[in-house]
Amino acid sequence: MATPSRCILCSGTSFELVERTPKNAIFKMFFIQCEKCGGVVGVTEYFHVGTLLLNLGKKLGFDLTKAA
Ligand SMILES: [Zn+2]
Repeated sequence: MATPSRCILCSGTSFELVERTPKNAIFKMFFIQCEKCGGVVGVTEYFHVGTLLLNLGKKLGFDLTKAA
């Protein structure tokens, strides 16, 4: 069993995805933050580029999950 991920601020082990627009940013982002204290442990793009590419590939007739 994998060791549970922990917040470095409060040792919390539960995390949530929260939509944010940082100051001076022109894109919305998703912060992955500790559910207990709000400490940010990661940031990910609002528009998941991987999913956009897979969908674009499908529309063009390609299954990019099988591309190597
Ligand atoms: Zn925390």
